[in-house]
Amino acid sequence: MDAFVYNAAPTRVIFGSGTLAALPGEIERLGRRRALVLSTPHQRGEAEALAAALGGLAAGSFSEAAMHTPVAVTAAAVERVRALGADCTVAVGGGSTTGLGKAVALRTGLDQIVVPTTYAGSEMTPILGQTEDGLKTTERAEAIRPETVIYDVDLTLSLPVALTVTSGMNAIAHAVEALYARDGNPVIGLMAEEGIRAMAGALPRLAADGGDRAARSDALYGAWLCGTCLGAVEMALHHKLCHVLGGSFGLPHAETHCVVLPHATAYNAEAAPDAVARVARALGTRDAAGGLHDLARGLGAPTALAALGLREADLDRAAEIAAARPYPNPRPVARDAIRRLLGEAWQGRRPI
Ligand code: NAD
Repeated sequence: MDAFVYNAAPTRVIFGSGTLAALPGEIERLGRRRALVLSTPHQRGEAEALAAALGGLAAGSFSEAAMHTPVAVTAAAVERVRALGADCTVAVGGGSTTGLGKAVALRTGLDQIVVPTTYAGSEMTPILGQTEDGLKTTERAEAIRPETVIYDVDLTLSLPVALTVTSGMNAIAHAVEALYARDGNPVIGLMAEEGIRAMAGALPRLAADGGDRAARSDALYGAWLCGTCLGAVEMALHHKLCHVLGGSFGLPHAETHCVVLPHATAYNAEAAPDAVARVARALGTRDAAGGLHDLARGLGAPTALAALGLREADLDRAAEIAAARPYPNPRPVARDAIRRLLGEAWQGRRPI
């Protein structure tokens, strides 16, 4: 066994079906009495219904959460917190809503309860990405980490199948990179392998029937494990590339993860053979990179950056940006090799 450092995350996790019923008790457990319920405009109805159901424990709702946590939206939410005298937030939704809750917590110190309805995994991390004037910056701080997460399988039944599969592949990406993380450890390794197994097993069942409760439960369990990996250890090339493609070229978050993951895995296959073998074992395939590509394809998920709207002419600049600053990765990050990787991902070729 190699030497390692392991930090247990303090977030309280409640998992199951119908667990949203635990929310009033969880607000009181934190010693809070006036929750502001957060959501995107799309989930406004859910947020308002939840605030109404909370009765006296709710201060109100705020439904302007948006992708990549724009600072102007956060400022408006903080103003609402102050105007209503809220003493905690309840974020109901995907990574965008969780991001808003984190941004509010960072500025106000308020406790956060998160009720995730996608598989992005942000609820298990102390990381916040924010945008201002088109620029995305990322911060890591314990004040950002949610106090309580309530996973309620019932709330994921409405997640459209297209979003289900891309969000699920996004989750798998966290676990793949955790397996070769520079600061990895045996506990996170176990969680990563089990997270990939649970998610990869659930996604084909969900692509066939989004209402399959057992598969929804497995996928949400996988998302928790994969999100925990993301919050615990350093991500590498794959996340960096997705950050560049999302931040500098406006590509959609989960879809980009879905396309890039097989190629980033192939890039690292020789430099991290044990980790990549564990990915293959969790997928039940012989070859991890090819297996990830086949999984995405079989799910009807995007497999080419071209299909996401990236221009071929942008590939050089994307490679420049991704290689510009060094960061930990099993195989050294070299501009020309990254350009080749991006070219393959742009075309959507099955990695070999
Ligand atoms: P999202 O939160 O933007 O959700 C996409 C859309 O789906 C929204 O309109 C949302 O309201 C809707 N939706 C969510 N759940 C639904 C459900 N069950 N039924 C119907 N509609 C539903 O998408 P996402 O992929 O969850 O999150 C992406 C964002 O999260 C990005 O900004 C990304 O950077 C961030 N993120 C951050 C971290 C972190 O650790 N900081 C981790 C992962 C993702």
